[in-house]
Amino acid sequence: MGDLNPPRLYNTRTHAVEPLEPMREREVRLYVCGLTPSGEAHLGHARSFLFFDVLRRYLEYREYDVTFVQNVTDVDDRSIAAARERGTSYRSIVDGHYASFKHSMRLLGVREPDEEPYATHYVPKIQEMIRALVQRGNAYAVEDGVYYAVRTFPAYGALSGRRLDDLEAGARIEIGEYKRDPLDFALWKFAKPGEPSWPFEGYAAGRPGWHIECSAMSRALLDPQGSGFDVHGGGADLIFPHHENEIAQSEPLMAHPPMAKLWLHGGLLLFDSKKMSKSLGNFEPLSALLERHDPQAIRLLFLQTGYRKVMNFTEDSIAAAGVVLERLKKAYRLLLNLYGNVNVSVQDETGLISRVDNALGDDMHTAVALRWVIQFADSLGISVNPMQPSALDDYTRALTILGIAPNESWHEERASFEHAASADDDIAAMVARRQRARAEKDWATADELRRELAQRGIELIDTAEGPKWRKTGGH
Ligand SMILES: [Zn+2]
Repeated sequence: MGDLNPPRLYNTRTHAVEPLEPMREREVRLYVCGLTPSGEAHLGHARSFLFFDVLRRYLEYREYDVTFVQNVTDVDDRSIAAARERGTSYRSIVDGHYASFKHSMRLLGVREPDEEPYATHYVPKIQEMIRALVQRGNAYAVEDGVYYAVRTFPAYGALSGRRLDDLEAGARIEIGEYKRDPLDFALWKFAKPGEPSWPFEGYAAGRPGWHIECSAMSRALLDPQGSGFDVHGGGADLIFPHHENEIAQSEPLMAHPPMAKLWLHGGLLLFDSKKMSKSLGNFEPLSALLERHDPQAIRLLFLQTGYRKVMNFTEDSIAAAGVVLERLKKAYRLLLNLYGNVNVSVQDETGLISRVDNALGDDMHTAVALRWVIQFADSLGISVNPMQPSALDDYTRALTILGIAPNESWHEERASFEHAASADDDIAAMVARRQRARAEKDWATADELRRELAQRGIELIDTAEGPKWRKTGGH
């Protein structure tokens, strides 16, 4: 059985929100372009990975079997240049930055990919593909390398909505490049003295171009038959030229194009309205940022913005997200105090899970999903009846789908945050205790709690959806 209500996602290639209809029953094959660890990762890199982590969690909640591949571009011009500058090997540059990135991802609660292919481990697959492209007439070798002939692929530009003639006007051939057309791009770069290189029979030794790596690795791991896979993703800055080039390389060699049914792109992240860059002086490594901020607050902040939108990161916005996170933690403690770790058979009596599901199923509207969770937390004991047996389970599950699952830190109170809201929380806890007493038919305790609440100026109204309370201002 297919999914009667499949998740809908915005496809960059068709400019439309489309139902996700996996090619294989209940199985989603997802390729996300990973990091090029030639330098330190920053929060802009993390935004895209955080989004795909939520997508993966959501698809798994929907009981899809997800195969998640995220590559590592472990050799490129910049890592070679950085190695030369520091008198070390490109390998030590790349390994150092990648280890730091992985540590940051763990702190952010981003799960490990199922497969994490390193480009340098796929050189034979890459060469096989280059050879086939040359044979088909899509690629050619010259003095400095093997190039892809863009004009041989009529659909070039379709993903990014660019016209070849416009691109041609802006392109040029650099000194020392022997390509025939300024639009063409390198598939294989012949090594200059001192550069790392791999032998390539029939050609000079060298290294692969960045774009062909992803074409070869996605094919090897997700689509050996050349019939396509389900979702290809990355940051919006990869649409052109990287993903455009991937399509141009992969599709001529496929039995059944397209390369991917859905192309998904996460929006860019700005810092105080500027792009983060070393030249602007606003560069902060991800590892340093995570020392200053709660990683869950960062996740929460990203969830508050639609994944496709350009997002502006400021110190104020992360502080505000931290305050919301504390409210979520308080609600969790309230529920935990009431229920402990009971397993309930009733699911989603509160309706929270289906609200979150509907929001995420509609092109991953994380902001709407999060709003439901916050509203649930804020209204505990007021309009949400915490005696609904599934309240704690539903709440925890919704948080887990969004990747902000309660951890150890959620059990401890933090004085600075507790203080302001503590009066209301006491009341919510009392209302909840009274509800439990009523459910257990302990009328004496229920009445006692109602009297205590009245003394505090709280009027209780029992409604069909559970008790509501308001301040009467008395006493
Ligand atoms: Zn890629």
